[in-house]
Order: sequence, then C-alpha cells, then structure tokens
Amino acid sequence: MSLFTRPCEFVAGAATLASLPEFNHPEIALIGRSNVGKSSLINALVGQKALARTSQNPGATKQLNFFLLAERLMLVDMPGYGYAKVSKQEKGQWDRLITSYLKGRPNLKRVLVLIDSRRGILEVDESFMTLLDDSAVSYQLVLTKCDTMKTSELEQAKHDCMRALSRHVAAHPDIITTSAANQFGIETLQEQLAPFAV
Ligand code: GDP
Repeated sequence: MSLFTRPCEFVAGAATLASLPEFNHPEIALIGRSNVGKSSLINALVGQKALARTSQNPGATKQLNFFLLAERLMLVDMPGYGYAKVSKQEKGQWDRLITSYLKGRPNLKRVLVLIDSRRGILEVDESFMTLLDDSAVSYQLVLTKCDTMKTSELEQAKHDCMRALSRHVAAHPDIITTSAANQFGIETLQEQLAPFAV
C-alpha cells in the first residue's frame, strides 16, 4: 500500500486546545488504555520503528501528537486513558482536551479505539465509546497484541467485542485484529484507512 510506504512526519504536539494544528488534512485518531500497544501499532502502520514513542512509563503521553502521512493523511496519537496514577487535575485536563477535540474537529474522519485482545473491553473503554457516541464521531475497534492469543481465544474476544458494540450507535461494525509484533492485520488496517487520504 503505497500511502504507507511514504514518509510519515511528526508535525505537532498539542497539550491545549489553542495549540492544535489547523485542520488541513483528513484525520484518523488512535486511542486506548495506557499500554494497549498504541505506539507500537502506529509504528507498524507506517513502517517506522520509532515514530511514536513506545513508553516504558504508561500514561506518559499527555498530548495529542500529529503525524502527517505522505502529506495526505494525519494520524493523531491521542493520550491514553485509564491510567490509575493520574491526579484529578490531570484527568480534568485530559477530559477537556479530548472532549473539545472530538466535538470540534470537522476533519476527524474516524477514531480507532484500541483494545488489548487479552483484556477485552473494560469499563473505561465503554465510557470512552459512549463519549464517542455522544460526540457523533465514527469509530472502529482494533484489537491489539493478537499474537498472544490462540485462534479460538481470538474468535471469542472478537465475539465479546461485537456484543458490546451492539450497544453503541457510532461504532463501525467491523473489528480489526492486529499484532504489531508479527504484522498480523496491519495491511488490512492500512486498506481500511487509505480511502480517507485525499
Ligand atoms: P502504548 O502505551 O499504548 O503506546 O503501548 P506500547 O506500544 O508502548 O506497548 C505497550 C507494551 O505492549 C510494550 O511492552 C510492547 O512491547 C507491548 N506490545 C505492543 N504491541 C504488541 C504486540 O503486537 N504484541 C505483543 N505481544 N506485545 C505488544
């Protein structure tokens, strides 16, 4: 998929609404619980080892990071949620930034909600999906770390996610299964995202 073999560059980091870059490109945002494998997935998607920083320190990313792919599609690395050690104040800042971003971004085409295949959908994921429903933002579930699952376990995990999805109006009905470790499903994900590029 040529879009994903072209250079992808970091263009901006935004910790406040005022510092968000202008919306010149269609955007795909990625989010999930801290440690879900988001940075690894972004790096696998664009074929660069260290574009998004994988962190040994879960919850370290507190800003929205914008990466421009082939000058045609913006990938937005959103700060993870569900990290136990954040203060109330930090949580409040996260809520405000994320909610305003989701509600006020006309070029946001889709949010990929990453779910660790071993853990399934947890309460924090459900809450975030409800926020997306309320914001009328189209989103799709992506299961990560699928290399750690047997085929039957993965089928069960997908099945459980499908059931949870039926309660959410803005969710895309397909769930994508991936592994950054062995590249499983990465091409499928690229194929799903390519039509959004202009
Ligand atoms: P982030 O905090 O969501 O950005 O997650 P990272 O990409 O930093 O990954 C968190 C941890 O999960 C790291 O220890 C990674 O090595 C591991 N990890 C990420 N992707 C995969 C995967 O596809 N398979 C496996 N087995 N481990 C993964």
